[in-house]
Amino acid sequence: EQRDKHNLIDIIQDVKILLDSQAVMKSIQIKTIFEYDSLIIDCDDTKVKQVIINIVKNAIEVMENGDITIRLTKKNNFAVMSIKDQGPGIAKEVMNKIGQPFFTTKKDGTGLGLIISFNIIKSHGGNISIQSEEGIGTTFNIVLPLMES
Ligand code: ADP
Ligand code: MG
Repeated sequence: EQRDKHNLIDIIQDVKILLDSQAVMKSIQIKTIFEYDSLIIDCDDTKVKQVIINIVKNAIEVMENGDITIRLTKKNNFAVMSIKDQGPGIAKEVMNKIGQPFFTTKKDGTGLGLIISFNIIKSHGGNISIQSEEGIGTTFNIVLPLMES
């Protein structure tokens, strides 16, 4: 693993560039809101990008059109990133199984994206939580410890 100081804004912008064309093909817009100019974390940037890619891709896969909004702020000594979609939401029965290896509702899904993501964030001293409302959408909240400045 390769840990270093990285600005979460750069990480999010790299992921956006990577997934923009895929989103546009489905009439989906990836929007970003940065409440600070710079939020520095000590991380393996490839792995943190992987997490955001997994979550945004899941959102693209369940949406017909609409917005995916990535908001970045901070609370105390943690960066707080929320990734909000306008998809169908997650039913309670499905929510209970999320994070179990190989659980998928897709006919060609692996059911590994989220469990890998949870593990990456945990190994960085952070946490992921999910809020979802059927018919409204889903928000993934990721918190990661900020570097001491
Ligand atoms: P996969 O994408 O291969 O199915 P994941 O671990 O990425 O595996 O996701 C597991 C399951 O969680 C998905 O099959 C889907 O049912 C549900 N899910 C994940 N993200 C969302 C989302 N944004 N909206 C609705 N359901 C979701
Ligand atoms: Mg997935």
